[in-house]
Amino acid sequence: MYKIKIPIIYVFLSFFSTTTFCQGNFNEDKLDVINYHLTIEPEIDQGFIKGTVILNFRIAPNANSIVLNSGNLQIDQVKGKSVVGFKKKADELTIELSEREKWDNEITIDYHGNPTRGLLFNSELGQAYTAYFTSQWMVCNDLPSDKATLNLNLLIPQEKRCVASGELIETVVQGKKTLFQWSQQYETPAYTYGFAIGNFKETGEKQGEIKLNYYSDSRTADQLKKVFRETGNILRFFELKSGVKYVQNSYSQILIGDHYQEMSGFSVLKDSYASSVLKDSSEIHLTSHELAHQWWGNMITCKSFQHFWLNEAFATYMSAAFSEYKFGKDKYESDISIYKGIYDKLLTAGKDKPLVFPNWDNPSRDDRNIVYYKGAYVLHLLRQELGDKDFWKGIKSYSQKNFGKSVVTADFQLAMEESTNKNLDAFFNEWIYEKER
Ligand SMILES: [Zn+2]
Repeated sequence: MYKIKIPIIYVFLSFFSTTTFCQGNFNEDKLDVINYHLTIEPEIDQGFIKGTVILNFRIAPNANSIVLNSGNLQIDQVKGKSVVGFKKKADELTIELSEREKWDNEITIDYHGNPTRGLLFNSELGQAYTAYFTSQWMVCNDLPSDKATLNLNLLIPQEKRCVASGELIETVVQGKKTLFQWSQQYETPAYTYGFAIGNFKETGEKQGEIKLNYYSDSRTADQLKKVFRETGNILRFFELKSGVKYVQNSYSQILIGDHYQEMSGFSVLKDSYASSVLKDSSEIHLTSHELAHQWWGNMITCKSFQHFWLNEAFATYMSAAFSEYKFGKDKYESDISIYKGIYDKLLTAGKDKPLVFPNWDNPSRDDRNIVYYKGAYVLHLLRQELGDKDFWKGIKSYSQKNFGKSVVTADFQLAMEESTNKNLDAFFNEWIYEKER
């Protein structure tokens, strides 16, 4: 028997609002950043950051400007062979360009600021960590469809540790500070970039060739290994279900701050999560939800936030699927009944909405519940409709075809239909595109 509790799965609702994101489809006239090379120096006590970002990008040869997102950052300088000038209005940084050769598509931007979101400081604990709104700490293109590689250099006091997107390549002592050089050689959207700094203790283990790292400033190594002990199994489970290998050689989890959030190559989780898992070893949804994003979200990314359910419903559903694999059918059914319960409440309150959102600019908590829980419940229904074999065959086909790409809901439907030879128009119309049932 499983009790229905106030579910811990509730708490991974992110605070993701997309007011700073535009929506639209990528095309060749739009900016396509290829690589960001960032060096930043955060001052935790002052809640201050200064940075330099070098962008390499593609854009139509006759384009005479690019527009980037820059939050509340102050722009000190914009340099580059083709840079004519720049202006900042609200969060947008417009850079005027002259006619140029292909190889001129490199721009260097110096900036500084005191971010109030996107990068959160805790001077008491000597910690700082990022939270979704990347353009609040790094000038970038916020559109989820623009994926790029990243070099992230962090200059921090010698006694501190950091984790960041990608793999740690080198550390260089510079006076009283250390420069940590991270490199992410696969493309993901800017919102998945991030880092966490603190006085961490580190432990970990290996899953095949992949190093699993666990960090906390207060938990013992034993506790951390208990809290995250399923990580290797979860990772292998998602590799099997997606048919795609995890994308890098390490994955880190850090107990820090007040959020649950995936970034490329690592996740941050609240310390209270550790207490929940230590009390009940089956409460591992957050480990599996955030790890699922390394496939569904970070690598298979909604092209615009209208299709955000392709990130969040998948991560939510996959955590139930791992529950089933690990703890059996009853645990899976219990998870699904929690998702359905949340959705039923919305239905009763007249707050049902299609999963494909016409407008995700300012989502409410109810909107997020639709995307996370109605979405995960609908994936369960799709599995019932197709049967286990065809459902998982379709999921694998969708994941393999779209790994590293940006997707819309039609890509998912197409992959499910092609791999199962079934027409899913009626199901998608009823459960995904239409509001009324
Ligand atoms: Zn999520």
